[in-house]
Amino acid sequence: MFVDTHSHLNFKAFDQDRDEVIKRTLKQGVFMINVGSDYETSRLAVEIAEKYEKGVWAAVALHPIHIKDEKFDYEKYKKLAMSSKKVVAIGETGLDAMYPNPEQEKIFLEHLKLAKELDLPVILHCRKAHKEMIQDLKLKVQDFQIRGVVHCFTGRWSEAKQYLDMGLYLGFNGIIFKFDVAETIKKMSLERILIETDCPYLTPPLPAEGHRAKAGADVRNEPLFVKYIAQRIAEIRGVPLDEIAQATTQNAKRLFKI
Ligand SMILES: [Zn+2]
Repeated sequence: MFVDTHSHLNFKAFDQDRDEVIKRTLKQGVFMINVGSDYETSRLAVEIAEKYEKGVWAAVALHPIHIKDEKFDYEKYKKLAMSSKKVVAIGETGLDAMYPNPEQEKIFLEHLKLAKELDLPVILHCRKAHKEMIQDLKLKVQDFQIRGVVHCFTGRWSEAKQYLDMGLYLGFNGIIFKFDVAETIKKMSLERILIETDCPYLTPPLPAEGHRAKAGADVRNEPLFVKYIAQRIAEIRGVPLDEIAQATTQNAKRLFKI
């Protein structure tokens, strides 16, 4: 079994067949956490999680690239997070240098505060801003007692080490077929690895289309494909797939208390 710790079944790409996709995922023993990126997708993530007895959870937050479209309302997100036991994290939140915005850091810190207040882990998004994020986290790690995951990790080993030293987990998805993060995957403790799809984005190369030159492109990603991420990690570490499946599932259970 696997846990896809970062999926977006709450996004439009799944409007036509959301329940079908979730049902076939659960049937194969794959669980998922649907992650919000603004109030509406956060609310929908909670609604979806509530529909299923087990195997589907939610995270709520305002993503750094959406702070231009929505004013972050701390109390509103707090209320949403408290409305359901299925909310297991605050995320995704963080810093994104591709979408610079003077409010980004302030809103990121508010999310850290919310996570602390509700005693939830954070799902961190970081694009081209590891230096700033590590600095922010180092300053705040004591105040906020941060626990969580740096999702979609593509940084260097030197950056990975600093996150790991702070007790954080690293999440890997289909992007590992494009970016070389083998050094980090090999050197880090298995106890801190999480697997995810970030679906509908970042489709890993699929066996039926073995010669597709690059990951992604045309096929919509979905939680079931998380096994290809686990497989790749097993290859890189030179261990059986089972070991990765078991460890990453345990890690997800430990961090998100699921
Ligand atoms: Zn995402």
